[in-house]
Amino acid sequence: MLDFTYLCSKLRLKSFYKSFSLGYSLGQVPPPKFVVWDCTRRCNLDCKHCGAKKESYEKELSTSEVKEIISELANYNVEYFTVTGGEPLVRKDLLEIFAFAKSQGLKTGLATNGFFIDDKNCKDIVSVFDSVQISIDGREKTHNEIRDNPLAFQKAVGAIKLLKRNKCKQISVSSVISPINLIDFEYLADLMHEIEIDFWKVVSVMPIGKVKNCKSLYLSKEDFIKLLRLTEKYREKNKGKLRIEFGENLGYLGKYDKKVREEPFFCPVGFLACCIGVDGSVRGCPEQPDISLFQEGNVLKTSLQEIWERGFKKYRDLDFHEEAECGECKFRDDCRGGCRVMRLDKINCSVSRYDI
Ligand code: SF4
Ligand code: SF4
Repeated sequence: MLDFTYLCSKLRLKSFYKSFSLGYSLGQVPPPKFVVWDCTRRCNLDCKHCGAKKESYEKELSTSEVKEIISELANYNVEYFTVTGGEPLVRKDLLEIFAFAKSQGLKTGLATNGFFIDDKNCKDIVSVFDSVQISIDGREKTHNEIRDNPLAFQKAVGAIKLLKRNKCKQISVSSVISPINLIDFEYLADLMHEIEIDFWKVVSVMPIGKVKNCKSLYLSKEDFIKLLRLTEKYREKNKGKLRIEFGENLGYLGKYDKKVREEPFFCPVGFLACCIGVDGSVRGCPEQPDISLFQEGNVLKTSLQEIWERGFKKYRDLDFHEEAECGECKFRDDCRGGCRVMRLDKINCSVSRYDI
């Protein structure tokens, strides 16, 4: 059954690429389905693996600037407007902004550490966000040590319970797996089941932010194979009851791809998704550093429609074919060069890196 789901999804993905390429060759690019707003670098916690601490800004987009951008996205038929950071809930205008986004007909999502969700604001959060993703990285001790905060775990799990009680439409958990918390994988899997979330996102660290200078947080080959096997075992036991989204940043996973994923590897950048940064510059996804290599324009100067239609060429023109390793690779149609962020440290190829 799991294989069948994967196969159907692979066929859908093939036909998506085909029709996108045809439209693109005729100068027609459909609007992005997902626009993520990377709204702030500020955060109340300080995770060891934080990928967000990669640049600083003098100022953030103002409430009125974001509302103007939202109106444009709604007119352009973007479907989802989601927010991440830093910690988005440090912005005092966040609920006002997302109430506006909902009034414009957009579907909305929030990625948060959960710390600021409480009895008083949970109802409002649920009314303006269609989905909420909370980070949990291990059992209480591990999670708190990673964040250097004794309350972080309790607050995150408490937030999920509150969201459930207030009937949040979709709740997911994101876990960043590194050598620090691999040992907690089974604990986490049981916890996800117990707290009855809608899906669990499992990713690994990326060579950005604090990790740029802390490569001991990369998984060794042995640990990585262990993670794949644990995930495979859990999926078999769980029989599809809890959906796992396994690390898109890990790219194509060879023979393991269909064992650990419901859907084949797909990087949505330039095809379905893009990201608006803290000062309005547009890049592919929040994990990509906000640097010229990834920037495609700025929404304070150019409309998102123009940036989207004219930019993102390297993703659509398959520039990875030019690279020696990927260009000749037998998996290149499945992998398309892997994750662009991992490529910054030449760790985008899980197949050769882990010999899988
Ligand atoms: S060589 Fe390139 S295309 Fe092939 S699996 Fe590795 S990253 Fe993907
Ligand atoms: S560039 Fe990497 S992290 Fe960003 S969306 Fe693509 S696969 Fe994910």
